[in-house]
Amino acid sequence: MKVVKQAKKYCPKCKKHTAHKIKQQKVKPRPKTKKHGLKWGVRHQAKIEAGYGSFPKPKAAKSEKTSKHPTFVCTCSVCNKSQIKVYRRTKKVSQV
Ligand SMILES: [Zn+2]
Repeated sequence: MKVVKQAKKYCPKCKKHTAHKIKQQKVKPRPKTKKHGLKWGVRHQAKIEAGYGSFPKPKAAKSEKTSKHPTFVCTCSVCNKSQIKVYRRTKKVSQV
């Protein structure tokens, strides 16, 4: 996906279309939490799975998605207010 660096966009504060600077926002990855191995639900599930037979089956791990929602910050050149624009899922993003 290609995104321009400057464009005319509607500013809700100025209440009209003005020139905006568009910049991609860097999103910090979420901190990976420790697996709560001591919680009751986890212990309970392990107890059930440890028994004979194959029921209930162990929970399958969720796969990570390869694409992300690119987020852009549009800053108004008149009032310097900024708005956030989130696009659909894409793998590649380039600013022209
Ligand atoms: Zn404005």
